[in-house]
Amino acid sequence: MANFETPQLGKRLVTPRIKRGATSHLAPYVAKPEIQEPLGYPGELVDSWERVAIDKLGEMKGKYRSLQVFMDACVSCGACTDKCQFFLGSADPKNMPAARQDLMRSVYRRYYTLAGKWFPKLVGARDMTKEVLDEWYSYFFQCSQCRRCAVFCPFGIDTAEIAMAAREIMDTVGRGQKYANEVVGKVFKFGNNLGLPARAIADTLESLEEDVEEETGLKIRFPVDEKGAEVLMVVPSADFFAEPHVDGLVGYGKVFHQAGISWTFSTHASEGGNFGMFIGSYENMQRVSIRIREAALDLGVRRIVFGECGHAWRVAYSFLNTLAGPFDFLDPDYPVPQHICEVTYDLIKRGVLKFDKSQNDHMVLTFHDSCNPARATRMGDLPGGQFTFPREIIKATCNHFVEMAPDTIGDATFCCGAGGGILTDELMEVRVKGAMPRMQALKQVVDTDGVTHMVSICAICKSQFSKVLPYFKFNAKMNLGVHQLVSNAIILDNRNGR
Ligand code: SF4
Ligand code: SF4
Repeated sequence: MANFETPQLGKRLVTPRIKRGATSHLAPYVAKPEIQEPLGYPGELVDSWERVAIDKLGEMKGKYRSLQVFMDACVSCGACTDKCQFFLGSADPKNMPAARQDLMRSVYRRYYTLAGKWFPKLVGARDMTKEVLDEWYSYFFQCSQCRRCAVFCPFGIDTAEIAMAAREIMDTVGRGQKYANEVVGKVFKFGNNLGLPARAIADTLESLEEDVEEETGLKIRFPVDEKGAEVLMVVPSADFFAEPHVDGLVGYGKVFHQAGISWTFSTHASEGGNFGMFIGSYENMQRVSIRIREAALDLGVRRIVFGECGHAWRVAYSFLNTLAGPFDFLDPDYPVPQHICEVTYDLIKRGVLKFDKSQNDHMVLTFHDSCNPARATRMGDLPGGQFTFPREIIKATCNHFVEMAPDTIGDATFCCGAGGGILTDELMEVRVKGAMPRMQALKQVVDTDGVTHMVSICAICKSQFSKVLPYFKFNAKMNLGVHQLVSNAIILDNRNGR
């Protein structure tokens, strides 16, 4: 355990008394030139970086009209003040969403507003200095880009987008984040965030087939690079081997087996995640996305399905068609990428999948809505499908399900504390503090309803929970994915085995 104080969980969530500078010492490791350069960024701070940063801000506010609106629209109403989990967990006032925005707004005002040019002090305008850059590098990496604050802002000001823009500006001047940029580079080299070579993926899937055959007595396949399959399955690479992720991957395989749908992974696009979004870089997001298109065309699939990964689904849902489309070669019945929960939900509704719910009777479950599916996507044709689909699957597969408090789920959900590229060990203090509100809501249902397990549909959430649950005296193993429940309870037969 690291050397900092874990926030205490009380009876209910309280807004903390502010502690100035409480997390000002925290910042991620800086990327070295060999990590920066493959992404098209300078290896270190460029000459006259201040001018480069100001020009880049000017370019971005012209290109992304939302950024200009976000810079101008805040009226300091305070509605977002206590909405960020990183403020609630750290008490640092710079983690209040409007204060985080002001890190950029103060610079914007100085160079792009008349009042800021003539009367900087009066309007809180600041020169772009090394001190400001360091502050950006600290606090824009204490934002998980969860968009919770935007739900409560009367103008919909989205601090996530501001954080993305700030990171893009910092990358442009040569101050990039080691973790996220290294991950993007691994996708260019290996096809996935973890740097797993194709052979390792194929071997892992082969031994998984043996394990599942031992468990079920059935030949359930986990195919890779199989031309002519109907579905290309794109998963977060943690699904290939990490716990509890891999148990969900087994669930995907069982669903396809039972439904008689042929499917395959691709070693060229062995990653659903796309950290290009976290660093605000459409160019890098596109380079990652294109691999999925290339794999789909090469394998001749008719459908693309994404596994349980929150931000992957946001990129797939919101950006994939623009970045890597058109997907006019797909089956007209499935013309856009789907989420595995959409596939499973549909099969349940059509009576194709049946479950023995008692297989999950040893657990009392609650569901954590992950930020990106909750606040940046949908599932199916109905508003709110992103909330109902996973819940309907959970209820179809278990007998004991309990919701956490209404102001901590749905579109008001709290972040796990590690989205947006901060799932890295050097930011553990940020992660633990940011996890506090979710842990508080979990404690409530553990205490009152006997909840034993928390389910989610995001690889980052699962990885984060495995690490932070013990800080709050919960068992790390109480964390699992929706398709693990599916895997436990699905009734299989061999009619589709091949
Ligand atoms: S986007 Fe999320 S993490 Fe960032 S400031 Fe808003 S509430 Fe906090
Ligand atoms: S809620 Fe919106 S307008 Fe109000 S302080 Fe926060 S960002 Fe500004």
